[in-house]
Amino acid sequence: MIKTHTLGFPRIGENRELKFALEDYWRGDASEESLQATASTLRLKHWKAQIDSGLDFITVGDFSFYDQMADHIQLLGCEPQRFAFANEQAPLQRYFTMVRGKAENHGGCNHAHGSSAHGLHPQETHALEMTKWFDTNYHYMVPEFNASTQFKAHAGNLLAQLEQAKTLNHPVKVSLIGPLTFLFLGKSKQAGFDQLDLLDQLLPVYGQILSTLKLQGVEWVQLDEPILGLDLPGPWLAAYERSYLQLKTSGVKILLATYFSSTQGHTSIACKLPVDGLHVDCVRAEEDLPLIIDWLPNYKVLSLGIVDGRNIWKTDLNPALQHILKAFDAGKGEVWIAPSCSLLHVPYRFSNDTRVNLQVLPWLAGAIEKLEEIELLKQAAKNQLQGKSLTGALANIWNTHQDLVKQRRNSPLLNNPEVKARISSIAPTADQRHSEFAVRQQLQRERFNLPAYPTTTIGSFPQTRNIRNLRARFRTGEIDEATYWQHISQEIRQAIDFQERIGLDVLVHGEAERNDMVEYFGEQLEGFTFSANGWVQSYGSRCVKPPILFGDVARPKPMTVDVAAFAQSLSEKPVKGMLTGPVTILQWSFVRNDQARATTALQIAYAIRDEVADLEQAGIGMIQIDEPAYREGLPLRKARWNDYLEWASKAFRISASPVRDDTQIHTHMCYSEFNDILPAIAAMDADVITIETSRSDMELLRGFGEFDYPNEIGPGVYDIHSPRVPKQAEIVRLIRKAAQVIPPENLWVNPDCGLKTRGWEETEAALTVMVKATEQLRCEL
Ligand code: GLN
Ligand code: ZN
Repeated sequence: MIKTHTLGFPRIGENRELKFALEDYWRGDASEESLQATASTLRLKHWKAQIDSGLDFITVGDFSFYDQMADHIQLLGCEPQRFAFANEQAPLQRYFTMVRGKAENHGGCNHAHGSSAHGLHPQETHALEMTKWFDTNYHYMVPEFNASTQFKAHAGNLLAQLEQAKTLNHPVKVSLIGPLTFLFLGKSKQAGFDQLDLLDQLLPVYGQILSTLKLQGVEWVQLDEPILGLDLPGPWLAAYERSYLQLKTSGVKILLATYFSSTQGHTSIACKLPVDGLHVDCVRAEEDLPLIIDWLPNYKVLSLGIVDGRNIWKTDLNPALQHILKAFDAGKGEVWIAPSCSLLHVPYRFSNDTRVNLQVLPWLAGAIEKLEEIELLKQAAKNQLQGKSLTGALANIWNTHQDLVKQRRNSPLLNNPEVKARISSIAPTADQRHSEFAVRQQLQRERFNLPAYPTTTIGSFPQTRNIRNLRARFRTGEIDEATYWQHISQEIRQAIDFQERIGLDVLVHGEAERNDMVEYFGEQLEGFTFSANGWVQSYGSRCVKPPILFGDVARPKPMTVDVAAFAQSLSEKPVKGMLTGPVTILQWSFVRNDQARATTALQIAYAIRDEVADLEQAGIGMIQIDEPAYREGLPLRKARWNDYLEWASKAFRISASPVRDDTQIHTHMCYSEFNDILPAIAAMDADVITIETSRSDMELLRGFGEFDYPNEIGPGVYDIHSPRVPKQAEIVRLIRKAAQVIPPENLWVNPDCGLKTRGWEETEAALTVMVKATEQLRCEL
């Protein structure tokens, strides 16, 4: 028997309907009824899409107003005590308070990377922390645990969605996050407390929910346990068997879903668990498949994730079909076909897109097109099993599809021989500066003659409505290029004047011409295309529209030199040239799957390298190459870290190394843990690195000190995620703390990150305080 399903579906809506409904509701412009109505319409539409494309199940439980982990916190009744919710408070209010925080006067705060525990008004409640969902660009809300955490089933919301789904008269599969993954992804908020100790309390609550679902006529529940693809500590692994034995008593059939990475080392545990089916990611963990086919008992359902849920290229159907047939050959009784993971991570559909390069468009598959692929595979497999091949319309669709896959593979659009030649003959010195850091540092000190604790910013200044309008009017053709650049020059001039006025030492041009730090470069590079509507949820109502990197990357002409040279011409002080690094461009795009990521990264690195050389030629003495995504590129399994770090740091060095010794290369990274990758950060050999540290109270810097990090560092001295203006004493304290672990002569002073999401008023106030704090410390030297 062969069946089809999806692990999850994008919930934000084809035209981001949920985003706009949420934001209207938060602003107070729409009622809860209208928000619920939008949600309900979207769920129906998405289930109908699954039915229309022929899936055997529709999936319930993947909808969320903000985040699925946050939904589980409510489902399992473990809202952290610190929110002190009153019993009569409506669940939806509590939910939004948890995910957005609560300020006394201004509605809620909505911070990209969790909100600060420091400097809160007594009436403020900060939101749950947010962090990346495995190695995706999706962020989940982190559950908080301590010894007094209790669980209680609150399945009302889930059951209501189930009732709604039942109106469609189609088999339903409910999808939930598995108990061990839920616990593991949370955080213990009590020193010495291990959240695994909560398992025995949690399991009965899961059991109760599963029993209820069974009573409601649900046959299958998918329990996601993606942590089986991590290097799991022994006690967690050991807990699997007894957990699932206990859940089995509910009587509902369980499909255990793994994805994102190989279950290597845990594969046999996954195969032997007392569940009714196992889902495996055949895209990210193809190498596991032979073992799983061998080890999974034939009476269990094997769900094959053979359509890539993380990328947007049409599936090559022939090898996918072979996987299915192999499973049957091995004697599997029931095989399901699915995307590798939830389709949350890809856009809704591409077929209607108005912006993607028309030659590239037919190669793409969004969620809707992926469901069609799954159906096609099912029909082909069914036929093959009966010794037949596809005929009629289906055969035509199959052939057209495969022609496109082949066409892409052989397309001249993908290949730029010059780029390929350059990558294949990298000189051994191409990733090395001329001299070692100590020599460069001396030359740079002589050249720039900066005071102790030089002050700077990370690059962007507030993106005002004025600037956004300007870019929009240019895009729609309302203003011509000359007028546009005239206005942008005006913005740059103001940014330079502002920085001179408040007394910063190293200036930036402010990035007014950039709407996004990756898109801006992608648009000017060959090998990229962009969609009009290819949105993917990042967190809550926030979506991103990743560039599509389809071919060899080349730089037809300079991208930032005019702007940088203009900005530098306005000041005697150094103005940093501002670029995005190769790893970040790679990481924040949908990239080609027909060559190694390392190769693509090197191609981007060469494009950036040429830009760096041109900036130097144009007289720019300091060049910053941002790599905020450097850490998030780390593979999920530690065994693969070295390989990644080696090519990632090499790509950075290739981009940074064509310059003279007295040209100063900066890099910037935010929201990262650094301690376990310090050697690789040092290996980037940037003359100066600025990092986000203020919210860790400089703790993140300690590792740099212990590691004897050799180059210069600018630890962020205030949090830019909040409008709050820091006090001088706070900044002084942080710099002093930094100077205890890093030699003071190597320290810079700067905010945590770019200021584009802030207003001018608070920016001026905060930077003024920062400069004053620095002056105070200089007097003490
Ligand atoms: N230079 C960029 C800015 O200031 C860096 C952004 C980032 O690190 N995410 O906006
Ligand atoms: Zn940053």
